[in-house]
Amino acid sequence: MPCPCIFVTRMTNSFSIPRGTSDILPLATPLWSQIELKARDILSIYGYSEIRTPIYEDINLFKRSMGQTSDVVNKQLLEVMSNPTWIAMTPQEAKHYQDQGVLKGYDPAKSVGLVNESAYALRPEGTASVVRSYVENRMDARESLSKLFYIGPMFRGERPQKGRLRQFHQIGIEAIGVDSGSPYLDAEVIGIGVRLLQEFGLSGFKVKINSLGTKDDKENFSRILRERLKSKLSHLCEDCVSRFERNVFRVLDCKNTDCQKIVDSLEFDDQHLSAESRAYFNQVKESVASLSIACEYSPKLVRGLDYYTHTVFEFEGGGALGSQDALGAGGRYNGLVQELGGPAADAVGLALGIERILLSLGPKEISGKALNAFMVALGETAYKRAFVIVDFLRKSGISCDMAHKPGGSMKSQMRQADKKGAGYVLILGEDEEKSHSVVVKNMSTGDQELVGWDEVVDFLGRKVK
Ligand code: AMP
Repeated sequence: MPCPCIFVTRMTNSFSIPRGTSDILPLATPLWSQIELKARDILSIYGYSEIRTPIYEDINLFKRSMGQTSDVVNKQLLEVMSNPTWIAMTPQEAKHYQDQGVLKGYDPAKSVGLVNESAYALRPEGTASVVRSYVENRMDARESLSKLFYIGPMFRGERPQKGRLRQFHQIGIEAIGVDSGSPYLDAEVIGIGVRLLQEFGLSGFKVKINSLGTKDDKENFSRILRERLKSKLSHLCEDCVSRFERNVFRVLDCKNTDCQKIVDSLEFDDQHLSAESRAYFNQVKESVASLSIACEYSPKLVRGLDYYTHTVFEFEGGGALGSQDALGAGGRYNGLVQELGGPAADAVGLALGIERILLSLGPKEISGKALNAFMVALGETAYKRAFVIVDFLRKSGISCDMAHKPGGSMKSQMRQADKKGAGYVLILGEDEEKSHSVVVKNMSTGDQELVGWDEVVDFLGRKVK
């Protein structure tokens, strides 16, 4: 039995992965690469180009775009530490800095405050960053419609559970342009989401759709919602009571069973929409249908972020995901570009969660790519020669490996070749060293022949290509 003190020492010297994050290990990376490659292929077919933005941004970018009352901003932003500095300030100035959220401390006796003027946060989603970049790089001056996509990690300080992580990955698209408020573009974006999910191998997911309308329609919607909920306020959970005032739409997403029952009992339709917004939404639905996509009108689908206007949609998984069943979501966000200092550009986008897609696909084994050849070297002199031959083979594009040091037996090296699924084994021992050749063994037929060092690259090249 091992001494417990050794165990304790090892524990204190070891580190664990942060909660809510995961290692994507070599057995899983081929599947991730496949998803990413497929996404890139399909998105280029639809005319989208990749954009890569930093993983952290000015915290106010997220506050301004997603809204102070959204859970993502309110509770889940992961702030990036920068160095706060003490500066002299009056109580009024301290209040001003506090309102801006940059005051980290205040000492009234000395009239100094600790201010973190450069406050950053890890990006909780991609839209705000892409719009920031669109505006900053004046993309509108170059093209009337920018079709952009991103693939990368997002960060939210959530309570981790199945399908809900603190670092997760999204494939997202954004179509931004002045005068791009076309229902056909909304339909195209929904169509892209469906196509991507299908290409990844998913079926049986639902497309849910709703319209929030313009800013005024949204106001209308929240007023109607408040009216309907007012008499039920005492039955709502504590969070929803405060949501009622701050962002009543969030009540519709509450996971509390009592709140859900109340929400289920409410009846809604599109009465908050103006005639123009209703016509726009009808055209979106008609265009989605013309792409042979069935979607479910869900008048309670609102999405909790400030920037959404008009169309909002969600791809709901077929049950494998439990309570976290959204595979992806998106919508139109007219007005955000202007809100962030850009031109009057309209926009629509979506984001799919890669972890949720993989969970939905279920356990999948993708075997790593098998090696073309494995070199077995017997003895140190042969190993030195084999080391160089392997280098030649690799430089000519033949995947090849060998033991990382001399001295292994024939049996142990053959076992390694087998484990790596090598198509051919090259054997270089004392006899082959003398005859300047290697034995090349075809591992599926068992056939073998002697091939000169000068010819082995061409010989194997012909066999494996
Ligand atoms: P959202 O930006 O919240 O609309 O999320 C878009 C998609 O990203 C969701 O439908 C999920 O598939 C995925 N997603 C969002 N938050 C998480 C999370 N915390 N963990 C894993 N996936 C997430």
